[in-house]
Amino acid sequence: MAKITVLVNGANGRMGREVVKAVLNDPDLSLVAAVDRSGEGMDAGILAGMPACGVTLSTDLAQTMETTHPMVMVDFTQPQAVFGNVQIALEHKVAAVVGTTGLSEEQLAQIRLWTEQNATSCLVAPNFAIGALLMMRFAREASRFFPHVEIIELHHDQKLDAPSGTAIKTAELIQEERQALQQGHPQEKELINGARGAAFEGMRIHSVRLPGLVAHQEVIFGSVGQTLVIRHDSINRESFMPGVLAAVHRIREVSGLIYGLENLLF
Ligand code: NAD
Repeated sequence: MAKITVLVNGANGRMGREVVKAVLNDPDLSLVAAVDRSGEGMDAGILAGMPACGVTLSTDLAQTMETTHPMVMVDFTQPQAVFGNVQIALEHKVAAVVGTTGLSEEQLAQIRLWTEQNATSCLVAPNFAIGALLMMRFAREASRFFPHVEIIELHHDQKLDAPSGTAIKTAELIQEERQALQQGHPQEKELINGARGAAFEGMRIHSVRLPGLVAHQEVIFGSVGQTLVIRHDSINRESFMPGVLAAVHRIREVSGLIYGLENLLF
């Protein structure tokens, strides 16, 4: 079977380097291009802590696509850049696997249109860790019985957006499952702005940013005389790679926009 050719965008970033390593180690995938706004001309393999692979970093995504013709782009760049990157990929009929968070509802609707216009596909996944997907699934289930819930997400202090895409997705899933509910005391008053976290459909989401953390989340349910905590920890960035690779393998078998890895895998 012919190998799936892959372009990694953000290849000099923390996630991008991990993806480069995972792609190089997968016998069914071929790394054909690596793009980043930094590190131009450097070997992507060496940046990822592997032997040189002969693919050097370039900065112009569109031009790189035209010269290397990848089948799939994996994007781990930054919230301000991802929408434009996805547009370039889809207009070049390159399927996109997107881990970068921060895309709005309107942008997702536009991405869906581009996949239809270009007969291609795009996966946007707030979290590629399979354990995190299970956490979300279990949280959704628990909220049927424990509708009072708060979410605490914890990430490294270089993360730009808050709350995390995973926290928002978890809250959306809970909201779909439980009856509408305004939690907390109606006269609750914050003595310091933000003390109660972000408000989402009656529940609260709290974001912790500290060095030493990777990606963690607790979903805490409270009921009469009992609490239930569902927690997931990504201890290192390798935790995301089985999900990323599964997505790269499958993305061209589907069409349109898929939001959430669970909708591609489960
Ligand atoms: P990072 O800052 O280490 O890496 C981002 C890289 O993208 C940098 O090398 C930067 O130079 C590059 N970049 C920025 N703008 C660019 C552009 N326009 N074109 C090309 N390259 C560009 O960040 P990171 O920790 O690797 O995270 C990247 C993104 O992935 C963030 O949005 C983060 O929230 C998200 N993330 C998602 C998951 C998931 O499972 N979905 C997991 C971890 C991180």
